[in-house]
Amino acid sequence: TEQALQEAQRLEHLGALISRRDDEARADASEVAARVARGEHLPLAGVPVVIKDNLNLQGTHTTCGSRALGGYVSPYTATAVQRLRAAGAVIIGKANMDEFAMGSSTESGAFGRARNPWDPARVPGGSSGGSAVAVASGMVPLSLGSDTGGSVRQPAAFTGVYGFKPTYGRVSRYGLVAYASSLDQVGPFARHAEDLATVMDVIAGHDPRDGTSLQAPPAFTSALGLELRGKRFAFIRESLEGNTAGVMATLERTRALLEGAGATVAEVSLPTLKYGIAAYYLIATPEASSNLARYDGMVYSHRNPDVPEMVQSMSVSRGEAFGAEVKRRILMGTYALSSGYYDAYYSKAMRVRRLIAQEFAGAFEQFDALITPTSPFPAFRRGERSQDPLAMYAADVDTVPVNLAGVPAISVPMGTEQVEGVDLPIGMQFIAAPLADEQLVGLAYALE
Ligand code: GLN
Repeated sequence: TEQALQEAQRLEHLGALISRRDDEARADASEVAARVARGEHLPLAGVPVVIKDNLNLQGTHTTCGSRALGGYVSPYTATAVQRLRAAGAVIIGKANMDEFAMGSSTESGAFGRARNPWDPARVPGGSSGGSAVAVASGMVPLSLGSDTGGSVRQPAAFTGVYGFKPTYGRVSRYGLVAYASSLDQVGPFARHAEDLATVMDVIAGHDPRDGTSLQAPPAFTSALGLELRGKRFAFIRESLEGNTAGVMATLERTRALLEGAGATVAEVSLPTLKYGIAAYYLIATPEASSNLARYDGMVYSHRNPDVPEMVQSMSVSRGEAFGAEVKRRILMGTYALSSGYYDAYYSKAMRVRRLIAQEFAGAFEQFDALITPTSPFPAFRRGERSQDPLAMYAADVDTVPVNLAGVPAISVPMGTEQVEGVDLPIGMQFIAAPLADEQLVGLAYALE
């Protein structure tokens, strides 16, 4: 814990954390030591951990990277976080993120931008960029993020670590501040696949407090012995275009490694994936617009004290509280749900969502896992996409279909690409059938 706190201090320029809890972490560490001394077996005894600042931890500020929640103190703890602590992990701080998890670069939050440790002039990806940086920089071995359309996998790829998006429902969302509830999943970052397995065994499993939680007890560490021989993989054809040369070379390297280990690598077409981004933004933004309606300054969130009239107060306070991207999404979502447009947009997007899930299901009758790049390119420069929302959205082309289908996927660091004299990490995404989470982590372990 001391070492992690020192590193957090030393690495402050990377902008990984929004808040730290040095004294509380020290107290927690002593308590864990006492539990161990009493003979308790704790799988994460004394492991320093960082959690994204949209996960509630009682008594800490939970900002979601937004001025809206600037002074908010969590009255309760998220299930995933509570399970981490029960297993002996010590939470040292809350990680930086895009405002309300909307973004792909950790540049939109109200508390400063995060930097990529491989090249501080570049972004670490997002929206869980702070959690990725905390692990990639060596500050902590494990962190938690959330993944609605790629927010764990893409920053993992940009920073050269493992990032895992479980099957929808395997990790409780209780205490995770909602962005788009039908897509959100809590997911871990780690530098080793084995650590992912350990943390998944701790945080996954049924939770009666989340109505979408699945009855599927985790068995990650026991699945680490997975054999690659005889496994059937396929590249998704639609993801093979528009990638940088380094990403293409890494795909080929991945194929060679798998074939060398006795697996087969074919190609499969999922034609509806090309509508993934469009469908995602027509589903995520309506959900966001209703989830964010609660931040009106009446019960909680920022309220301008100088506006006495209620409706005007909500309007002024929300105008001050939210950044441009959040406002854009509330507007898009409200528009897509409005009468007369619902059938043209939201309900059509839901049909695309169903088709994408069906195409995945068909592919998993033939293949054990599908492969795409996690991102078509390595980490981009700070500011490069932040003025162009569509360019930012395009960064998620390979990750959002996974959330639409609810299936599990992992980003595995598989190569590097030299850009302007710096080696930047490249991640490959492996996607599996619902509830095949354990196989994905086992696969990453076999490739390590
Ligand atoms: N970049 C995507 C978005 O902005 C995904 C974000 C996420 O997974 N939280 O919606």
